[in-house]
Amino acid sequence: MLAAMPPTPPTPPNPGEPPVRDRGDACPGALRLHAADDGRLARLRLPAGLLTARQVLTLASVAEELGDGRVSVTSRGNLELRGLGEGCGAELAGRLSGAGLLPSETHERVRNIVASPAAGLDGLGHGDVQLWARELDALLCARPWTAALSGRFLFALDDGRGDVAGLGGDVTLIAEGPSVRMRVGGRDVRVGAADAPRAALAAAGAFLDAARAAGNGAWRVRELPEGHKPDVAGALAGAGIVSEPVTAAEPPHAEPHAGPPAPGPLGATALHVLAPLGRLTAGQLRALAASGGEVRLTPWRGAVVTGLAGPGAVATRLRELDAHGLVTDPRSPWAGVGACTGRPGCAKSLADVRADATPGSGHRSGGLPVYFSGCERRCGHPHGAWVDVLATGDGTYLVNGVPTPRTALPDAVAAARVPTANTR
Ligand code: SF4
Repeated sequence: MLAAMPPTPPTPPNPGEPPVRDRGDACPGALRLHAADDGRLARLRLPAGLLTARQVLTLASVAEELGDGRVSVTSRGNLELRGLGEGCGAELAGRLSGAGLLPSETHERVRNIVASPAAGLDGLGHGDVQLWARELDALLCARPWTAALSGRFLFALDDGRGDVAGLGGDVTLIAEGPSVRMRVGGRDVRVGAADAPRAALAAAGAFLDAARAAGNGAWRVRELPEGHKPDVAGALAGAGIVSEPVTAAEPPHAEPHAGPPAPGPLGATALHVLAPLGRLTAGQLRALAASGGEVRLTPWRGAVVTGLAGPGAVATRLRELDAHGLVTDPRSPWAGVGACTGRPGCAKSLADVRADATPGSGHRSGGLPVYFSGCERRCGHPHGAWVDVLATGDGTYLVNGVPTPRTALPDAVAAARVPTANTR
């Protein structure tokens, strides 16, 4: 039996949340700060994870001067600042805006777009999803009605390699060459590649219409009740976009299984590194920006650095980033290990999961991702199969449901990761 199966996402998604229609969308943003135990928290949406080198440097300074000196990369390739002071909201907004990181105050929380971060860099994939992400972001920010989307509604733009199509997008685009497969609520339609961003926008409109008709306050497509599926075909027709249904006779699209790119070189002019437990210090941010190229934060809590001069420059930069503590090798004990905020930053946490997750305790690299959670909400857990390490509050964890003392975690986690390696 496969050792690690993720918990089935419940609806509502987190235990203890009120019924869907009673929730308020309190999802934090760059302007709506969340009060955490370690200070205010800001979440900054970065479509496709994209940052210029100058923006990375701004974030390093902001983290040092207003926050706790670090940023957290989220499972959507967004970014969080923690430890912010009570009265820093206006200064934070001004500095982010000055760096071009807040193009719309009214829409800042709905710019949730993940895109294949290696698109255009390594010869894989079929579509320029990075360009689609920019177009879709501009469309989202330009229309007042899109501000009604929740801060959790997700667009996933996959260039055909299958790395982000499985990340649970509400609207997922999968490039197939001149055409694009668009998936909404388990139904697929095909549109032309040139129409992809507008088609995604139309699908979001169809979702909002369905949510209003359902009247249950759904934030996500999967929260719509039976009988209230979005009329995607109608929305596309209304937008003048030609589409064709993907018929039952057509072989089903293989569910993508591609994982994240391994840390290391990415083609001849780019590289990929991981942030240990998803956090980057101000110094690490400056190291990422040092070459002046574009930085793309990834949904696997890493960063792709582009614009390097060639393989020699890639190798040199990797050595420099390794010296700054970033994960540059898939054999690193940090690779594949994640953790939520835990104590002391989160009041709900039953343990200091980040301390317990440090790879110095001997967690085996390779195999399934492993994720440490301080409570049953399991914030930011990976998609697909993963090893679930859940704090229970008495010095004990549940490793895939099996009670395990903290001292026995390394062996238990290493054993739980093995079966996937055996099935590769
Ligand atoms: S999963 Fe972690 S970060 Fe999320 S509420 Fe629980 S303890 Fe806090």
